[in-house]
Amino acid sequence: MTTVRTDSALPVPAPDVNPDTAEFWAATQEGRLLVTRCSQCGEAVWYPRPICPFCHSTDTVLEQASGRGTVYTFSIVRRAPGEWGQATPYVLAYVELEEGPRVMTNIVDCSVEDVYIGAPVEVVFFDTGEGAALPRFRLVDA
Ligand SMILES: [Zn+2]
Repeated sequence: MTTVRTDSALPVPAPDVNPDTAEFWAATQEGRLLVTRCSQCGEAVWYPRPICPFCHSTDTVLEQASGRGTVYTFSIVRRAPGEWGQATPYVLAYVELEEGPRVMTNIVDCSVEDVYIGAPVEVVFFDTGEGAALPRFRLVDA
């Protein structure tokens, strides 16, 4: 469990919350990252959803993730429209969670030049001010 922050250097757009994702987004407000786990085939699934994309079972549960992972790949964004343009340069990345799924996200709290493939990261949450917090990731020492 981590603290939900309000000091984001990036825009923090509110997600569309629906009945299938309400539990996931509620947990983000408590600084907890959940992943869907299929009770039939055992796969961990991202993004949160009630139907397993591997075996089509609806026997899925949300479980606590460690919040740790590694940078699978990334790009440094140097030009962007609107309010995102004010935040450049920033890092858009896929983080591979310890549980397996890859999450599109941002790497924050560092120079964009410090990010590398394989870098260990941990989740940080930023309050949207609208009943949910966005999970992003920061570098940690290996
Ligand atoms: Zn499954």
